[in-house]
Amino acid sequence: MTARVLVVDDIPANVKLLEARLSAEYFDVITATNGVDALTLCERAECDIVLLDVMMPDMDGFEVCRRIKSNPATHHIPVVMVTALDQPSDRVRGLEAGADDFLTKPVTDVALISRVRSLARLKMVTDELRMRALTTKEIGIENPEREAIADTGRNGRILIVDDWSSSYERMAATLATEHTVDIEADPNDALFRAAEGDYELVIVSLGLKEFDGLRLCSQLRSLERTRSLPILAIAEADNNARLVRGLEIGVNDYLVRPIDKNEMLARVRTQIKKKRYAERLRDNVQTSIEMAITDALTNLHNRRYMETHLTALTEQAAQRGKPLAVLILDIDFFKSINDTHGHDAGDDVLREFATRIRKSIRNIDLACRYGGEEFVIVMPETDIAVASVVAERIRRRIATEPFPIQQGAKQLEVTISIGLAALSGPDDNAAAMLKRADTALYRAKRDGRNRVVQDAA
Ligand code: GH3
Ligand code: MG
Ligand code: MG
Repeated sequence: MTARVLVVDDIPANVKLLEARLSAEYFDVITATNGVDALTLCERAECDIVLLDVMMPDMDGFEVCRRIKSNPATHHIPVVMVTALDQPSDRVRGLEAGADDFLTKPVTDVALISRVRSLARLKMVTDELRMRALTTKEIGIENPEREAIADTGRNGRILIVDDWSSSYERMAATLATEHTVDIEADPNDALFRAAEGDYELVIVSLGLKEFDGLRLCSQLRSLERTRSLPILAIAEADNNARLVRGLEIGVNDYLVRPIDKNEMLARVRTQIKKKRYAERLRDNVQTSIEMAITDALTNLHNRRYMETHLTALTEQAAQRGKPLAVLILDIDFFKSINDTHGHDAGDDVLREFATRIRKSIRNIDLACRYGGEEFVIVMPETDIAVASVVAERIRRRIATEPFPIQQGAKQLEVTISIGLAALSGPDDNAAAMLKRADTALYRAKRDGRNRVVQDAA
C-alpha cells in the first residue's frame, strides 16, 4: 500500500520540489497552499502524512498543526514540520503544537524519505487498530481519541541505556522533573531490563563504549515483549547514516548531541503520548472482542461464540478420534421465579447458577449462556459416561444448596434439568449433536424435571 502525503507550503516552487522527490519514491502526493485547505483535506481523511511549512501567511504551520492534533478526527495523522528555522526553541514550539517530526530546509532526500517511510509504516498499524476501535464506539466503549488528546505525556516510565555516567546523569536529572526514570549502564542487561520492566519509553545511546546501540534497538524491535515499546535514540553529531539506519530498524525518534533539554522533554512526551494512544486502541479492540463473545449478565461465553467454537471442537475431535460431549442445562420453572420474586431475583439466580457451573467444570470445558435460562457446556475428550457423572454432580450442586436472592435476604430452592449427548462417529456434526442433547432435555422436563437424561442414540 502506498502512503499518501499532503505537502503544504505557500510557495508553489517548494511544493513542486517536495512533490517531485516523494513521487520518485512512489508516494502519492496531494498539495495545499494554505492552512485552511490543508485542514479540510485532513478532515476528509485524504492523506496519511502531512509535510507542513511553518512560515505561511494567515495561519502559520504551528497553528495548523495544533488544530490537526486537537481534532479527534485528525489527531492520529503524523505531522512533519518543514522549517527554515533550526533553533531548538522552534522545534520545541512545534513539538508542543503536536508535531511528530521536523525537516530542516533545505531538505535532504535521505532525511525526507526515511522520515516519511517510518511514519507511514507506523500510521498503517495505528489505522488498522483505529478503524476497529471506531467500530466499537457504537456499542458504548469509551472513545480513545478524547483521552489521547487530553493526555499530557507526563508521568511516564523511562529506561535510559547509556554507559557514560556524565551523559545519563544529566538526562536523568532533566527527565526526572516529570517522569520516573531508571538507568541501565550495562548494555548487555538492557534488553532483559526493558522486557521485564513496565516501561513506556527506552532511550538508547548510539555512542556506547563497547556495544552497538543499533543492535540493541533492533533486538528491542524483534522481541515480542518490547515490540511496541518506543525507542528514542541519542546520536552523536554528524552521523546521519547511522540515524537513517536506526529509523529503518524501527527507532521512533532521535536527538542529536549536544542535547537541548526542552527538546528532549518535548520529544519524550510525544513518544509517551503515542504509546499510550496505541495502547488504548489495543485495549479498546480487546474489550470489544471480549464483549462480542461474552454474555454480560453471567460473564460466560455467549451463544454466538459457542456455536463457532463448537464447530471447531467437533472437527478436531473427529480428526483425532477423541470423544466430545455436550450438556444442555435448563432451569426448572424459571418463569415462576421471575413472577414470584421479580426479574432482579431471576437475574441473581442466573448469576449464581453461572458461578456454580464454572466451579463444576475443568478449564478446557466451555460453558456458555445459550439463551434466557438455558446453558450449554461442551466437554472435550469426554465420553458420555463421564459426562453423565459430571451432569449429575452439577444437578445435585444446584438442587441441594438454596440460591441466595435479594442480597442474601431470601433463599430459593432451584432445580435444573439436563440433556446430554456425545459426538458419535465421523459423520456426526455439532448441530446434530446439540439437537440430540435438546431432545434429551425435553424428555427430562417431561419425565418430571430435576434430572439428567442422556441421548438414546
Ligand atoms: P421449564 O421448567 O419448562 O424450563 O419452565 P421455565 O419457566 O423455566 O421456562 P420458560 O421458557 O417458560 O421461561 C423462561 C423464562 O426465563 C421466561 C423469561 O422471561 C425468563 N428469562 C429469560 N432471560 C432472562 C433474564 O436474563 N433474566 C431473567 N430474570 N429472566 C429471564
Ligand atoms: Mg426453564
Ligand atoms: Mg426455557
